[in-house]
Amino acid sequence: MSDTLDEISCPACHKPMKKIYLVNQKFNVDICLEGCGGLFLDNRELKKIDENMEDIDPILEQIKDREFQEVDSSVKRTCPMCGHIMVKNYSSHLGKVQIDECYNCGGKFFDHGELIKLREEFATENDRINAFNSYAKSILNAANSEFKEKKTLGSMINDIIKNYKEFN
Ligand SMILES: [Zn+2]
Ligand SMILES: [Zn+2]
Repeated sequence: MSDTLDEISCPACHKPMKKIYLVNQKFNVDICLEGCGGLFLDNRELKKIDENMEDIDPILEQIKDREFQEVDSSVKRTCPMCGHIMVKNYSSHLGKVQIDECYNCGGKFFDHGELIKLREEFATENDRINAFNSYAKSILNAANSEFKEKKTLGSMINDIIKNYKEFN
């Protein structure tokens, strides 16, 4: 997905969104300044602003001292770029930040304040990856010891094959 100059409507409150240019990263993000304060960007863009050290001053400048309207974040949203229904996912296994994602075009929508929370989850991209890896490992280990306690999947399959042959 490439930057579009078309005006898009906020997927949460349907007000027109305003394009804010991030000087350091050299792309526009869409912010719902007149409505809920939500932020729309694509996958490629998120990687450049998801760490605390990455500059988002142009965004903070725009949203400071503004009042934003409340929206119901549990409502399903439609992607303002391509019209597909967006899917709600947590940004990490910590389950702190929920993002609406479009699986068709890669668009992502953050409710007001969510990007800030996401940036505070992990200090760096490596920390984010390491945290996920050790979390995935602990789940696999737990599943593995569960299997060992009962019967391994392999011996269960062998039983099935053996019994099947005996019938024929
Ligand atoms: Zn909005
Ligand atoms: Zn889309």
